[in-house]
Amino acid sequence: MNFHILTLFPEMVRDGLNTSIIGRAVSAGLLSIEAVNIRDYAFNKHQSVDDYPYGGGAGMLMQAEPVYLAHQAVAEKTGGRPRTVYLSPQGHVFDQKMAEELAQEEDLILLCGHYEGIDERVLEEIVTDYVSIGDYVLTGGELPAMVMVDAISRLVPGVLHNDVSAEFESFQDNLLEYPQYSRPEEWHGKKVPPVLLSGHHANIEKWRREQSIIRTYERRPDLLERCELTEKEQKWLRQWIEEHED
Ligand code: SAM
Repeated sequence: MNFHILTLFPEMVRDGLNTSIIGRAVSAGLLSIEAVNIRDYAFNKHQSVDDYPYGGGAGMLMQAEPVYLAHQAVAEKTGGRPRTVYLSPQGHVFDQKMAEELAQEEDLILLCGHYEGIDERVLEEIVTDYVSIGDYVLTGGELPAMVMVDAISRLVPGVLHNDVSAEFESFQDNLLEYPQYSRPEEWHGKKVPPVLLSGHHANIEKWRREQSIIRTYERRPDLLERCELTEKEQKWLRQWIEEHED
């Protein structure tokens, strides 16, 4: 999969994405991450890319033309019209489902705004998706772009050595992941739940599913509402709540 990040701060995204699992996947040729400097497409001699907003108001706005030319350069190289995400606090909030969907793309352009954002006219022409990483305002789209690249990349086949580890994680079926333990068997007087040492796979699976349900109920009840529990599981959860809550 090929990511093309349009930004005024290419070194920030390059530095942020060349380590650990993502860095190794790039070296292995499973991913490519291109940081395109929008400033290279500035059409004036000072290479300025921002100007005052018409109508007044605080701050500066990124101008349409350099963003358009940077986008065109990528689109020409990839051929066709790649899906183009504008990172914006006004977008749909990014989640695992969106990451799964975007991981199907061959090429993905991520457009990072800065200052007060970008001239609306170029957004109308090039953007296919508006995506936010949460209801707060950041200074730029670079961190959100990196968040998206990380979450999407780990769903690309081969990026995680063990493909199963991406499958049974939080948000699968709208459940959070169960608690996990590693050696030693006892730490600070706390023992690993005996079922995990039993070697009985069916019991381990059952315990994990129950723990996922409890954890989601306690930490993200909003997710549990969208989760399809069997009747047996619903009954079991009601009973668990009765036993564990005042
Ligand atoms: N004036 C804009 C508004 O009120 O919607 C906010 C601009 S923000 C200071 C600058 C840039 O940061 C945006 O253009 C966007 O690319 C990025 N950004 C800020 N918060 C974000 C968020 N929650 N999710 C995604 N991108 C964000």
